[in-house]
Amino acid sequence: MLGRSIFVGERYEKSMKSIAVMSLIMALAGFVMFVMNIAAGQYLVSLTSIAFLLTGVTDFFLTSVTEKRKAAMIVTIIAVLTVMTYNVLFVSNGFAFLWTILVPLAVSYLFGARAGILVSFYFSLLFTVAFYSPLRSLVEGNYPEIVLNRFPILYFFLFITTSFVMIQYHRSVLDQIDKAEELEKARETADQANKAKSEFLAEMSHEIRTPINAVLGMNEMIQRESVRGEKVLSAAEQTQSFRHISDYAGNIEEAGSNLLSIINDILDFSKIEAGRMRLVNNDYELSLLLDDVSNMISFRVREKGLEYSLVVDESIPNLLYGDKVRVRQIITNLLTNAYKYTEQGSIRLEVRADGDAFQPGDTITLKITVRDTGIGIREEDLQKLFTMFQRVDLERNSSVEGTGMGLAITSSLLAMMGGSISVKSTYGEGSVFTVVLPQQVVSCEPLGNIHSPDGKDGRHGHQYRESFRAPDCRILVVDDTRMNIAVTVGLLQKTGLQMDTAQRGEDALELLHKTPYDLVLMDQRMPGMDGIETLHRLREDKFGLNAAIPVICMTADAIIGAKERYTGVGFTDYLPKPVNGEALERMVVRYLPADKVTMIRDNGKEEAERERIPYTELRAAGIDPDIGLGYCQQDKALYLTLLREYAGGEEEKAPDMQRYFEARDWKQYRILAHALKSSSRMIGTVLLAEKAAALEAAADRGEEAFLLEAHPAAMEQYRQTAETIRRVAGGAEEPSGPEEDVIEFAPEENE
Ligand code: ADP
Repeated sequence: MLGRSIFVGERYEKSMKSIAVMSLIMALAGFVMFVMNIAAGQYLVSLTSIAFLLTGVTDFFLTSVTEKRKAAMIVTIIAVLTVMTYNVLFVSNGFAFLWTILVPLAVSYLFGARAGILVSFYFSLLFTVAFYSPLRSLVEGNYPEIVLNRFPILYFFLFITTSFVMIQYHRSVLDQIDKAEELEKARETADQANKAKSEFLAEMSHEIRTPINAVLGMNEMIQRESVRGEKVLSAAEQTQSFRHISDYAGNIEEAGSNLLSIINDILDFSKIEAGRMRLVNNDYELSLLLDDVSNMISFRVREKGLEYSLVVDESIPNLLYGDKVRVRQIITNLLTNAYKYTEQGSIRLEVRADGDAFQPGDTITLKITVRDTGIGIREEDLQKLFTMFQRVDLERNSSVEGTGMGLAITSSLLAMMGGSISVKSTYGEGSVFTVVLPQQVVSCEPLGNIHSPDGKDGRHGHQYRESFRAPDCRILVVDDTRMNIAVTVGLLQKTGLQMDTAQRGEDALELLHKTPYDLVLMDQRMPGMDGIETLHRLREDKFGLNAAIPVICMTADAIIGAKERYTGVGFTDYLPKPVNGEALERMVVRYLPADKVTMIRDNGKEEAERERIPYTELRAAGIDPDIGLGYCQQDKALYLTLLREYAGGEEEKAPDMQRYFEARDWKQYRILAHALKSSSRMIGTVLLAEKAAALEAAADRGEEAFLLEAHPAAMEQYRQTAETIRRVAGGAEEPSGPEEDVIEFAPEENE
């Protein structure tokens, strides 16, 4: 027990204590024997007892107090040898005691604790049996009666003690085995994690290489086409060459966005792992969000030959408070999975809420369901889905790109938002993913009717056609980044606009000082003089050529409230970056003088809507469709679009005008009155156009009295006109296809 210890940790401490106790017992027993031997008149034999007594005390002292184990060993061995020699010489008592305590102690010093305990255990068992059985007669002659009567109890106790130590020993061994098993398990887990990380890296490098290869390959093709294009080509060859380039560029775009989404997933994953993922809550419109995700996915879904439908409980409040970027990410991820793992049938996005009467500040629990008729998931795989890097059923979907991070990120995000995700699936038939998501209600106004988009999103590979031409208009594009200027100019190129550019506020002001423009597109963040300062300097020069020109703020600052902030500091309107070609054209055409703009028709829409202009109703509302159609070169579809733009614009412009009117900000007011004049003229509401012209002139001259009198009536007419349009033309739908297949873009959907 004292030598090479078999005990570890806490048990070692215990075993050391039991050794100390044993030493004391030995000392005590030596003392008892000494007294008994004296009493029996065996003075010589009592010397053995003194040897036991001294050995016990010395061992106790050496092991417990000074911890000199080697010295204890030597003392014990000397004692054993002395007592043995003495026994041989004098055949005395103490023989049994020698074998049950002193020898085991020496053995444990020499051969380890386990051997010592075993020796003690077997001898004490032997002596106990000997003293309590007929064998006792064998020793009866050798021992005085007093020994034979008392000592069996001592041996019995010794037997119990050694048994106890044996049990302790076994428990100690079992403990060690448990610990070893735990260690083994921990090692296995660490190995697995390591393996998963290696597999993940391999997977990632494959996933990242695929789009990069596509980008490089396509780029090479574009370069080759360009070299070919440098030669003299026939018109047909040229068209073909451009078509190729357009295809390659389309592929690059797709590969780029794949790459971006993988990298976003990796970033999200690392943020979640590091516990640094934070939610950014704000007010947001659920209808816009659903429109957005639906538009994004419906085109791809339909291109694959699948049906897409969106079903939304119309009574859900529209304005909610939450992290709209993450909510969008969650829904997009489920829709993208449904798209990836479905080859035929349909995908359906359903949004419902618990309850129907909500007050601002209430928590609404949205139930968002994405249902598909795809490959489905095996029962045994269901619980693996939400584990990081887990992809299932690889033999079936090995060709589908994926990293196995999407659902894990989704469920972590939902956990942060107090929501949850569940899945039901029938293998081979399809899956239903259900998200439960609590959000705060900001205003009770319901989101109303949202239709499934028809996939003609315009952002995805459609044939681009400029929506207007305005070669007589001149605009100024101000941006400190040359590339941004190139993008804006490139996107507007086909409209024939004359475009000047400036990279600094000072340069812009110089140009604006010399040349009359129709519109300025101004970047907000520029080194030195920023957009706001440039704008203010421009407006300060009251008699300058362009003092009242519409100035559109272009900025990457697209958070909620940005628009109000920028119009608040004096910009006419706001367009978030990155700019979308259609949104840019819509924005520009809205502020260009109507008489210098020729709108271009969209053939597809015209066919569909040819006979649908509600002449009678429009005339009754003071709108002359003939004038409007004249502006649109008899393009009825375009005219209808203009009418809707006009009605949509009213919802925003009228409150703005009212605000400027109340603030007596005639400079801003004049700009909006000017826009109202142009747009009213274009749709053919002559009377309102005249009123707006009068307001513009009065604002220009600062004739407050006239404005105070004329403004309310003009605004009322504006409101009524827009309402009539909304009623008779605003809800006009494509005649072909079911109602669900209608898409409507609100003109301000720029975000
Ligand atoms: P990824 O799609 O990038 O592989 P996810 O975490 O989004 O990663 O999904 C994990 C796995 O769950 C997928 O690899 C796929 O096997 C399975 N899965 C997810 N959504 C569907 C679905 N709608 N239908 C069938 N299987 C699905």
